Amino acid sequence: MAISNQNREELIRQLAKTHYDVIIVGGGITGARLLYDLQSRGMRVLLVEKNDFANNQSSQFEVIAEQEQLSGKEKKRFTQELQYLERNLPTRTNFMTFLNIHNRYGVTDSLTDRIKGTFKPRLHPTSKVLSRKEVVAEHPHLELTDDVKIEQVSVPVIDPVRITLDILKSAHEMGADVINYQKVTDFIYQDQMIRGVRLEDQMTGEEAVIQSRMVINATGRDINELHQLATFTNKNFIHFLSMRSGQWMIKKEALTLGCALSIQGDLQMYPITLVPMENVWVLTVKEPFHMGESAKYSTSESMFNRALDLITHRCPAFNVTYQDVFEGKSINQIDFSHHQKIANDMYVTDTGLISTLGVPFIYARSHAENIGDVVSKRFKKEAGILYQTSETKTRMIQKDISGTKLEINEQKDPRFWSVVDQLGLSLNEINKYQAKINQTAMTSMPEYLSLALLYTLEHEGIYKPTDFLFRRLRLVMVNTPLSLEEIDELFAFFTYHLAWTKEERSYYERDCRFWLKQLQVIQ
Ligand SMILES: Cc1cc2nc3c(=O)[nH]c(=O)nc-3n(C[C@H](O)[C@H](O)[C@H](O)COP(=O)(O)OP(=O)(O)OC[C@H]3O[C@@H](n4cnc5c(N)ncnc54)[C@H](O)[C@@H]3O)c2cc1C
Repeated sequence: MAISNQNREELIRQLAKTHYDVIIVGGGITGARLLYDLQSRGMRVLLVEKNDFANNQSSQFEVIAEQEQLSGKEKKRFTQELQYLERNLPTRTNFMTFLNIHNRYGVTDSLTDRIKGTFKPRLHPTSKVLSRKEVVAEHPHLELTDDVKIEQVSVPVIDPVRITLDILKSAHEMGADVINYQKVTDFIYQDQMIRGVRLEDQMTGEEAVIQSRMVINATGRDINELHQLATFTNKNFIHFLSMRSGQWMIKKEALTLGCALSIQGDLQMYPITLVPMENVWVLTVKEPFHMGESAKYSTSESMFNRALDLITHRCPAFNVTYQDVFEGKSINQIDFSHHQKIANDMYVTDTGLISTLGVPFIYARSHAENIGDVVSKRFKKEAGILYQTSETKTRMIQKDISGTKLEINEQKDPRFWSVVDQLGLSLNEINKYQAKINQTAMTSMPEYLSLALLYTLEHEGIYKPTDFLFRRLRLVMVNTPLSLEEIDELFAFFTYHLAWTKEERSYYERDCRFWLKQLQVIQ
């Protein structure tokens, strides 16, 4: 079975025929890590996601250093996990130089303070406190106000979307099943114990039932929906504080900054970060929200301007406008401040559902191992079946491709190679896709876009073109506007490969054209 969304009907028929050991609900980092762990223990596992994979909390690009001060034991664990990530997913973890700007007088909780003691010096070799003179010399366009202090820090940054997808793909390659755009709406019971889920297809509305011996609820902020549904006697809510955040993609050329910025203002509890990605700047604003307020951060023009106000309060020369924004995305987050208390917590209902809120991204692997141990124990007790212990401690997730030598054809559009790099394709895979591109009659579509499309369809289970564009926008590029011809071919491609009906095509096309127009991506 493939992660691909081609032939969904057949895919769902096959799922419904299978009796799983565990169904994991939620395709974020928590679910992906669990899938990988349980699959490597030899279980028959399915992961179900109602939307695009890694679309919610795990879609936020993350600065790892945004941690609380850690205790000695935690610090060791954190460093170990970071090293594991670097070893196994080296192309997904980067060190990035940040200029950290904060109030000279009041604020103690700066990014530097947070990472001090968290990383060994060799992990952030370029960190230093800059004098005002040095900053002015290096970044003359910043025009900082007098009351700010500046440091330059080198901070590890990960892209959780790519990591989540890498882990899903690795689990899938080992035999796990994965499906998206399927929402779990209810459970199937036997003797008051959960023995499967009811799914609703988010495209067609069709329902299906899939059986399993156990279900794990890894639905992030939505955790209470399923947790409550699964409880007969004790209708407990899982309490957690919530944060909300907004993220905007800003056109790369709109800013002439030489490095990432983290701005800690007196008005703002959490730093506002501005980080350069391949073709965009990502502006992130976080804030706690209070009872009665909407949990959703608005990414409207006025909220964007509010964020800009906070930046220009420290950096008056910062002259970006809403016109430079590609895309705004609102993410509900879970408050970091509670992670020590509930890091390894999982909540089990009287019907056997395991709900987990997840943990900070970097601990997701060990968290999955802990849950995996609980699941294996339960199965052993139930049926005397012995499962292997977790192999995730030693297993490689993905081979580093940075050492692979590519024979670069000078004639090729450099964007093609950029896509190759970002997707981590081997030479064999490049050849395979090149042959497919040559076979298909996509005459107007640039090769890099065809490559990205084909790969995404086969490996990332994208069905909705807006999801596709968002993901590519974030990771590859759509910063050169697409021509109308290219857009037409894009739809022809989806229609052919995903076997869209006429209705589906017209629905998605409308959706997509609206989105592209809004972002001024259509010429
Ligand atoms: C205690 C704690 C501490 C944290 N600390 C930090 C920190 O220090 N720094 C930091 O950066 N981050 C921190 N985080 C955030 C952490 O990185 C995120 O929580 C993590 O990315 C969440 O991933 P997830 O898979 O649990 O949730 P998500 O990525 O939100 O995934 C849940 C998925 O479930 C799907 N879903 C929901 N309902 C259904 C349904 N009915 N059917 C099918 N699918 C469904 C959603 O569409 C979504 O894709 C912390 C989180 C916690 C809980």
